[in-house]
Amino acid sequence: MQAQGKCPDCNGIGANPLIMHEFAYIDRYDCPGCNGSGLFSDWAKVNGRHS
Ligand SMILES: [Zn+2]
Repeated sequence: MQAQGKCPDCNGIGANPLIMHEFAYIDRYDCPGCNGSGLFSDWAKVNGRHS
């Protein structure tokens, strides 16, 4: 994923679908790995590595 510049946690989407179990609708949340940017550079910062 690094070569493509995309966050490996969300594949560069920046958010993932989340099913709210009690309300039966689909919500989205910002990817915790890249803070929703979808960028590998942000993911590397959040995860404390730059390699
Ligand atoms: Zn991400």
